[in-house]
Parts: sequence; C-alpha cells; structure tokens
Amino acid sequence: RAKGEGGGMHCAYEPQLHAKAEERRQLELALREALEKDQLHVVYQPVVRVEGGGISGFEALVRWTHPEMGPISPAKFIPVAEDARLIAPIGEWVLRTACREAAGWPGDVRVAVNVSPEQLTNPQFPTVVAQTLAQSGLSADRLELEVTESVFINEDAGAIKVLNQVLALGIRLSLDDFGTGYSSLGYLSRTKFSTIKIDRSFVVGAANNVAESLAIIRAVVTLAQSLGMATTAEGVETEAELAMVRSLGCNKVQGFYYGRPMSAGDAAMLFAPPRRALG
Ligand code: C2E
Ligand code: MG
Ligand code: MG
Ligand code: MG
Repeated sequence: RAKGEGGGMHCAYEPQLHAKAEERRQLELALREALEKDQLHVVYQPVVRVEGGGISGFEALVRWTHPEMGPISPAKFIPVAEDARLIAPIGEWVLRTACREAAGWPGDVRVAVNVSPEQLTNPQFPTVVAQTLAQSGLSADRLELEVTESVFINEDAGAIKVLNQVLALGIRLSLDDFGTGYSSLGYLSRTKFSTIKIDRSFVVGAANNVAESLAIIRAVVTLAQSLGMATTAEGVETEAELAMVRSLGCNKVQGFYYGRPMSAGDAAMLFAPPRRALG
C-alpha cells in the first residue's frame, strides 16, 4: 500500500473506486448469466388518455431478479449492460417478449419498448424489428419505440438512418424523458416522433407551482401540438399532478396514480369483460 507524502488522498478513495469497479464487474458477469438462465422478465405500465380515460397502451419495462441478490433495478443494470455491450441482446429479448405478450391484447392497444442508443448503431436493427413483428404477429402500428434525446448528441447519421428505417416499417417513435438531456431541437424536424414524453421531474415541479417547470411543460405542449405530436406526462402519482398536467394540455398520462408496472397477465385482465355475479 502506498504511504508517501501526498499519497494520503489516494489511499482514501482508491479502495472505494476499486470496490465500485469490482461490483460492476460482478454485476456484468451476473447479467450475462441472467440472459441465459431466464432471470429477466417484462412488466407493463398503463398509459392512459387524459380525454376519456381509456388505456392507449403499455410501456414495457425490464425486470431482473437475481437468485441471491434479489430484484435489481434497471436504473442500475441498464447502464452496466450498455457499457458491457450486453444491451443489444437484452434489448432484443425485451422486444421479442413484449411483442409476443402484447399480440394478444385488443387491437387498438399499443406496446412501447425502450431502445438504448447503442442498439441504433447496429445497421441490422430494422431487420430485427421487422422479424420480431412478423414472428409475433403484432402489427407494426401497435409497436412504439422509445428513445431519448441522447441518441442525437453526436448527430450520429447512422443512428438517424436506422431510426428512419424502423419508422418505415410503420411503427411509432416516442421521445422519452424529454427535457432532461440534450436540448437542440433540430432533430425534431428530421425524425418523425408521434409522442413526446415529459419527464416526471417537470410534473412534480409543475404540481408544486415551480415557474420553470410550468413554463417548460407549456412550451413542450405547444411545440408538440404545432408539430402534430402528442404529449405524455410521465410519473403522475397524485390527483393534484394529474389535474395539473391535464390543465396544461398533456394528452396522455403514465404513473403510479393509474397503475404500477404489472405482469402481462394482469395487463390482459384489464381488458377482460367484467364477470357477472352468478344467481
Ligand atoms: P423510463 O423509460 O423513463 O421508464 C419510466 C420509469 O419510471 C420506470 O422505472 C417506471 O417504473 C417509473 N415510474 C412510472 N410511474 C412512476 C411514478 O408515478 N412515480 C415514479 N417515481 N416513478 C414512476 P424503471 O422500470 O425502474 O425503469 C427505469 C429506466 O430504465 C427507464 O426509464 C428506462 O430508461 C430504463 N429501462 C427500463 N426497461 C428498459 C429496457 O427494456 N430497455 C432499455 N434500454 N431501458 C430500459
Ligand atoms: Mg421509457
Ligand atoms: Mg421515461
Ligand atoms: Mg423518465
């Protein structure tokens, strides 16, 4: 162990850095195994129309339960998967699972699948989507892919080309976590998004009357309307948040207020005709 003058600071944080790297390495190994050993599953969170209150679709969210470590949040393992080049196989697995499970839902209910920027660097991605649709029997207009603004940071022509090729299949695109990342708006005119998803942080702010959050939601709703896109407010937890985003003109809402992410079976039950009492 280094002991010289000025080395003290190093000694203080190096073991921590090492522990972090080691934890990541363990997680990466465990994640590789998770894919092979069927430890992943997909849950679905309803997206509800503000007007009329009907379900417009569900967002597919991946879940991982490790046999010893228990449930691990995607906020933790997706970044590890992205670094370890595991996001493509995981993303394809989620896409296949979500399309297959959604194919049995009523015809106008969509399923939204998150796509990492890395997946769009694969020129084969549009073929993967086309094959997945064909195998599952889900019609293209019922699949929505969610991407974040980070896709556009490097003005990556390859990724934009891939996005336009998947669009040509007849699927929809939505822009996830809007306002939290890169903020040049030029790409909005070059890629056809159906929906802008407004991040929960602005929803919380608006419900607390934070002037900036209110201004941002108003601006996004106006922008979306003038570009012919819908808006979804993410992470609506309370009646007050719902009332606020409704008054600001958001078209759809998603959040714990309407429903937590649920199994495909529970999602399907929401459409089952209500059972009549016997006798
Ligand atoms: P996201 O795409 O923005 O998904 C919404 C997240 O907000 C989900 O977290 C959801 O459970 C959570 N959420 C929904 N309603 C509420 C609410 O009312 N309050 C609060 N506080 N949270 C709410 P989750 O499932 O932990 O996923 C986190 C992120 O991980 C996702 O954010 C997405 O970026 C990523 N992710 C999840 N599944 C996938 C996947 O299959 N592929 C990729 N590439 N990323 C994924
Ligand atoms: Mg999403
Ligand atoms: Mg989101
Ligand atoms: Mg979000």
